[in-house]
Amino acid sequence: MNASVAGSRRLLVGNWKMNTLHDEAQGLANELLTLYESGYEQSSIDVIICPPHVHLTTVAVAIKDAQRQPNLPLLASTTSFMLGAQDCSHRAHQASTGDVSAKMLRDIGAEWVIIGHSERRQYHGEDDTRVYEKFIQAKRFGCNPIVCVGEDEACHQLGMDAVTAHLSQQLSQFTSQQLSLFTTHDDFFPSSAPLVIAYEPIWAIGTGKVPAPESIAAVMQHIHQLLPSALILYGGSVNPGNTGMLATIPFLSGFLVGGASLSSASFLKIHALFASAISADN
Ligand code: PEP
Repeated sequence: MNASVAGSRRLLVGNWKMNTLHDEAQGLANELLTLYESGYEQSSIDVIICPPHVHLTTVAVAIKDAQRQPNLPLLASTTSFMLGAQDCSHRAHQASTGDVSAKMLRDIGAEWVIIGHSERRQYHGEDDTRVYEKFIQAKRFGCNPIVCVGEDEACHQLGMDAVTAHLSQQLSQFTSQQLSLFTTHDDFFPSSAPLVIAYEPIWAIGTGKVPAPESIAAVMQHIHQLLPSALILYGGSVNPGNTGMLATIPFLSGFLVGGASLSSASFLKIHALFASAISADN
């Protein structure tokens, strides 16, 4: 049986990045909802889709509409198909032109938010301190953060000790001592949601390259030792061809999928393969 944490909860997260015009986003959301309902069934996997900010309301409405339709009973009876955002501001409400706060995201129905994605770190200069500030904002307003970490190609070439040292550094603010300091803060949103970490080696994102399962397993174990109650996802070129191989890695609780989440067929194929790997493993 797969060594998993936080019960049997699994997450499949689709990160649409800066893709889709309005009608495409609406069409993709509707396709996903219909196909999900018509066969990609009950499982212990929660699905979270993260469209660009400008399409969040459109996708929120699509999910709500689907949940109200009597011919889509699975969606009506479950909260396992959820909306997430790709980023939030590290500020609550100052003059901050162009930013979107976690409070605004939660208000329009986003229950999750990705923070610290390597593309934000690379193109927007976000460091670990900034990522932690965003984490605090997300938690304050009840938007569950998915914290991305991962090493670049140069670090990967140095070997597993360098990779784990890098991850320990990126995760140092999320240890239980640090978090317990924060949870005593007055306006912390009381959330029982687990800490979710997405391990995404930068060199594997969008490249078609995937680390060897033994390397991912070593990283999962390392993160589990640092943060025993966290749910740990893997991201980086996940597709229907490698899902089965990745799905049973110990301590892996799900996937963050970029490119393959832009096709309803491939995203839901990943869901189906993940679900069957879990049931075969139990
Ligand atoms: C991502 O953007 O988080 C990601 C993992 O992308 P891809 O699946 O395309 O590698």
